[in-house]
Amino acid sequence: MECEMCKEENKWSEWQIGEFQYWKAALNPDQRYLGRFLLMLKRHTEDLLDTTPQEREEFFDILERMKSALKQLFFPDKFNYFSFGNEIPHLHFHIIPRYAGPREFQGVIFQDQRWGKGPLPNEEYVPSFELRDALVKAVKEKSIPFATSLQTRGM
Ligand SMILES: [Zn+2]
Repeated sequence: MECEMCKEENKWSEWQIGEFQYWKAALNPDQRYLGRFLLMLKRHTEDLLDTTPQEREEFFDILERMKSALKQLFFPDKFNYFSFGNEIPHLHFHIIPRYAGPREFQGVIFQDQRWGKGPLPNEEYVPSFELRDALVKAVKEKSIPFATSLQTRGM
């Protein structure tokens, strides 16, 4: 069976924030934790230690700037990171903003119901298409400077 993450068009395409030399950044369709996103390695490998120094450098660069974008938009109180690969054994990371109190976006209230605990299991929340598009647009706008800076640095 073809790897779900290797497909050009996949369930994250509509949620994509940016495509870089080695990684893709996309919001997670489950937005229970407002701004939750994934970093997916573009080539198929399964183990973190298979990554090259260049891939590792770009990973941290994108991560830093995605976090910065989310901080400007939603003021998360902290971030959780995890990588399982049980259901989709293609190297990717989930980055989950955590919130001590409610946040509002486009009139919708987001409440971190597991604050102080691990993020899973959570009650999935998939926003409307309108909300999805607004969210992708907002994060993209805050992330444009980093896309540009990566290019100008020849990455
Ligand atoms: Zn794959």
